[in-house]
Amino acid sequence: MFESAPVLCAVRLVLSFLVLAAAAIAPAQERKINVIAFGAHPDDCDNRAGGIGIKYAAAGHRVRFVSVTNGDAGHQTQGGGALAARRRAEAQEAGKRIGVEYVVLDNHDGELLPTIPVREQIIRQMRQMNADIVLAPRPNDYHPDHRYTGILVQDAAYMVTVPNICPDTPSLRKNPVFMYFEDNFQKPSPFSPDIAVSIDDVIDKKINMLDAHVSQYYEWLAWHDGVADQVPKDAAARRAWLKKGWAREPRPAVREALVRWYGPEKGRQTKYAEAFEVCEYGSRPGPAELRRLFPFFPDSPR
Ligand SMILES: [Zn+2]
Repeated sequence: MFESAPVLCAVRLVLSFLVLAAAAIAPAQERKINVIAFGAHPDDCDNRAGGIGIKYAAAGHRVRFVSVTNGDAGHQTQGGGALAARRRAEAQEAGKRIGVEYVVLDNHDGELLPTIPVREQIIRQMRQMNADIVLAPRPNDYHPDHRYTGILVQDAAYMVTVPNICPDTPSLRKNPVFMYFEDNFQKPSPFSPDIAVSIDDVIDKKINMLDAHVSQYYEWLAWHDGVADQVPKDAAARRAWLKKGWAREPRPAVREALVRWYGPEKGRQTKYAEAFEVCEYGSRPGPAELRRLFPFFPDSPR
């Protein structure tokens, strides 16, 4: 009996070490990341963040894409409620294809303004999601809806933490990290990627998501670009056409960010990427926090 005491002690020691080790590992594994992206139109979030949406969803994190307008104007032959209903159904289908929630707010397309009621809609969305990361366009863009979506999200970036604003939805105790989608506008300053994620492994899934927006890519945008007669009829050929026209090599600044995050080999080989710039409002993550929030790198915590 006495002889077994040291053995028991050793077993207890090993067990408590295992418990401590598990506790140390658990937070990184179990902490789900809540990501919400705001685009002006049903397809904007997909375009800029569909690839990481696929990756977060596949890893069990929660993702919501929000279209701030209902898309009821951008079409050459349709419009109004019928178009809005079609766009909403396409967005739902796109979300279903990659496993993210898709919300379409009922604001008119082409008429978005940074008003208090729309700001409140956005604050509620962020709060409902208990967002860790908020993605949105920068507020300089050719399209007024994109521009005001950027402004609306910036305007919500502090108010989301103020309890007396939208008291029907509990305020966030921790301000999320706000990040901008990539764009190519140069004034007043070019997009400066703080992080770039390779989406080579999910590019076909992303194209499949975009493919759900039939009224956009195969009708409206094709017509607007004067290439409507080039859209193939066959579904597979149409997806291939979409990929050819849409998918592009990373821009030089994004390539640099890829090399920074992946190292020179993978950074230079990556064909498709999504990149994001940290907004100066909201929480300001350091490199370690960014790595935790974007768990897509070889040495990221899992
Ligand atoms: Zn748009």
